[in-house]
Amino acid sequence: GGKDGGIVINDDWPGYSLELFNYPKHYSGDLECVYIPHGVIMDRTERLARNIMGDLGDHDIVVLCVLKAGYQFCADLVERIKALSRNSDHTLPMSVNFIRLKSYVNDQSTEDLHIVGAEDLSFLTGKNVLIVEAIVDTGKTMKTLLKHVEAFRPKMIKVAGLLVKRVPNSSGCLPDYVGFEIPNRFVVGYALDYNEYFRDLNVSFSSFKTDFNFTDV
Ligand code: 5GP
Repeated sequence: GGKDGGIVINDDWPGYSLELFNYPKHYSGDLECVYIPHGVIMDRTERLARNIMGDLGDHDIVVLCVLKAGYQFCADLVERIKALSRNSDHTLPMSVNFIRLKSYVNDQSTEDLHIVGAEDLSFLTGKNVLIVEAIVDTGKTMKTLLKHVEAFRPKMIKVAGLLVKRVPNSSGCLPDYVGFEIPNRFVVGYALDYNEYFRDLNVSFSSFKTDFNFTDV
């Protein structure tokens, strides 16, 4: 069984100097540091895949990827689960589905979340469901999603979250599989955006400068 709290990144971690890595020119000046290098994410993801296989490896699973930020982590995680599956006697039939959560409150804390895409999740009934999220902050998104998914009576629900922020978690919900526990800083890259900027950033999880000016992009 694979429940651990993830790799802990301490509050005083300064990150790596940007000059040590390649990153797109159009973001030069906007980023502070490389917080978690891509290779470390890949290695951690490989271990999460093993933990997930250990827990779910004898059943079919339905992966539910939370867009948009979750797509990169989900793709990499599914790749590694498939690699383990083809190298083992246990095989894991897997299907991947996508949902998107949207808040209709401008700029406000996302109290009222609306699920876009697969409102009817009846295909989850009786299945083992793996929800894949990029980041859990207050936990509201995860809580809303769990409530919605539970209504379709899956056999089992597990949640994989690549990042969990060290903040007062208002919902009390934590993923079953956690990649990294990070300080309360805003991070971008590896499909995590800021108003759609930085999704194309491949050095992972740079935190950007607080005086970031969008007209500069
Ligand atoms: P929640 O507070 O519901 O746990 O998180 C809500 C959503 O806020 C996450 O799914 C993610 O889309 C976004 N979010 C929270 N923290 C960060 C962050 O540091 N960077 C980025 N790019 N998005 C974040």
